[in-house]
Amino acid sequence: MRSPLIRSLAWRLCALPVWVAAALSAHAVPQTSSPAVAPAATPKSHVRPNDAAEPVPTRAAMLRGAYGPFRANNDLLYYHLDIRVDPDKQFISGKNTIRFRMLKDGTRIQLDLFETMNIDKILLGTTPLKYERDAGAVFINFPQTLHAGQVYSIDFYYSGHTVETGRFGGVTFKKDPSGHVWINTACEGIGASMWWPNKDQWRDEVQEMDLSVAIPNDLVDVSNGKFVGKTDLKDGYTRWDWKVHYPINNYDVSLNIGNYVHFSDRLADLPLDFYVLPEDLDKAKRQFAQAKVMLEAYQHYFGEYPFAKDGYKLIEAPYSGMEHQSAVTYGNLFENGYLGRDWTGVGISPRFDFIIIHESGHEWFGNSITAADPSDEWIHEGWTTYLESLYVEYRWGTDDAIKYLNGYKPKVHNLRPIIAERGVNAEATEDQYFKGALMINTLRSVVNDDTKWWALLHGFYQHFKYQNIMTEDVVAYFNQHTGMNLTPIFDQYLRHAQIPRLELLFGEAPEMVMYKWRADEDDFAMPVRVGTPGHWQIIHPTTHWQSMQTPLTKDAFQVETDRYYVDVNKQ
Ligand SMILES: [Zn+2]
Repeated sequence: MRSPLIRSLAWRLCALPVWVAAALSAHAVPQTSSPAVAPAATPKSHVRPNDAAEPVPTRAAMLRGAYGPFRANNDLLYYHLDIRVDPDKQFISGKNTIRFRMLKDGTRIQLDLFETMNIDKILLGTTPLKYERDAGAVFINFPQTLHAGQVYSIDFYYSGHTVETGRFGGVTFKKDPSGHVWINTACEGIGASMWWPNKDQWRDEVQEMDLSVAIPNDLVDVSNGKFVGKTDLKDGYTRWDWKVHYPINNYDVSLNIGNYVHFSDRLADLPLDFYVLPEDLDKAKRQFAQAKVMLEAYQHYFGEYPFAKDGYKLIEAPYSGMEHQSAVTYGNLFENGYLGRDWTGVGISPRFDFIIIHESGHEWFGNSITAADPSDEWIHEGWTTYLESLYVEYRWGTDDAIKYLNGYKPKVHNLRPIIAERGVNAEATEDQYFKGALMINTLRSVVNDDTKWWALLHGFYQHFKYQNIMTEDVVAYFNQHTGMNLTPIFDQYLRHAQIPRLELLFGEAPEMVMYKWRADEDDFAMPVRVGTPGHWQIIHPTTHWQSMQTPLTKDAFQVETDRYYVDVNKQ
């Protein structure tokens, strides 16, 4: 929808930090506090405070972020979120049945629900359980010891008026342009426990989930997973049942309640289902045809769509978009580019619908492979931003993919590391997107063998699909399967603010150039192509000076910076 809100958030991606939304919607341009560390080669129009400094975590963030003993003592198996949504009262009530296996003997577990929501009761069978609330955490005490290896199930009853907060409001009760009820959720960052009780962290996921959503008879609910059926409750409400057959992040669990119409398609055996407002049906039928090509492209590089039993869905929503698992929400105006704009400014973005291509890429990276802590969210966003370039490469070839990626350079700030503090529910810097993708593109050049590179990407995804991993897992896989020590390269790009700078010193002797990397990692070593276009040669700089013969003058001597994201300093 062309709401002023969406227009004001025009350059915002799907998963930017909470405060960015507020800053942008107020058209604020925060000032940097440390311009001295910015590399001269990176022009900046916006530098936001959280890119310059990591915020001090609050108690609530620490309780949310830490994988403490009362989380670590159990392993999630299953949720059944069974709720009623009252649009008039803007009120949610119901229960989440939570099944888990104890990993250690214990009498206490931690779940999460925002303090703004009421806990009505928590039952083990018919036994009410005692609990203590601390910020957003809910510590539940059991009257008897729960034993390691045993499976338990509790019913967590709750209710309340959700409070709009976070980037897309978390839960919004809106009206569509025709005046019908339109209720949507999008809660990554702020957390799913803002609207339903769960173990609100990234490390542990249920293996499967049922969703039952009761809403007034004239409305449609589209949630995650496979549509099971709907039941008239004979009280003016109808319950919509959805079944998720795969592990799922809490923040991916989504409600989309509105006056939706449905159309469908197939890609081989995979059902494709589309839900839009009636007035947008014709536009959607044209624009959503891109979903098929997108799926073909990503399946080409990584293998089968991860959630085949649940199908693939695109659902119109009143914000730009979000990667809700098997139920991607879409608000990109049924136009190519990103909210009507050329996203990377190099003429390629207008060829495709950014939201379909980006948010759906998260089905592979974010939803199937998931970071175990938000600190390492580049595993979602850096990879998915790189996937955009793979889509470009699949459709239009390598040169356009490289051009597209290089369009990201002006968006990088290099003011703090991509990996944020672990265990405090930290929001990673925006650099996780663009710098993350540019780093992966650099690794392709380091591998320097596209046949190997495609096999590496495919193998990497297949190895870690449906798992929750950290950066160390990514690095170990790439080291093992390339036979190279890529650790200093990953570390330089992910754990330091600055990118490596190639120092070139001419004129010490005739037809000679000296070279070395300037980097924070002492053992940083990365091959790089130098020379002139069409006549590149690979050199192997370290952090110590080496020299080479060259007939090129200082002005003529180039570094292939389109394929290596590095700074160059010629003297
Ligand atoms: Zn994203």
